[in-house]
Amino acid sequence: MQAVPLAILEKGRGTQLSVVGTRTIHLCSDCDADTLRRYHANRPNPLMPDDIPTAGL
Ligand SMILES: [Zn+2]
Repeated sequence: MQAVPLAILEKGRGTQLSVVGTRTIHLCSDCDADTLRRYHANRPNPLMPDDIPTAGL
């Protein structure tokens, strides 16, 4: 398992999403290999969640 910071996004005005914080999640290096690869490719940025908050949230 690897501890990975996951971005907490908040929808601002318009369509812009801003990172308002991070929370630590744990990913399995086997089951979540694709997600881990995505994270390591974008380090030191936090991992972006798959479910981007939509308008109204
Ligand atoms: Zn696993």
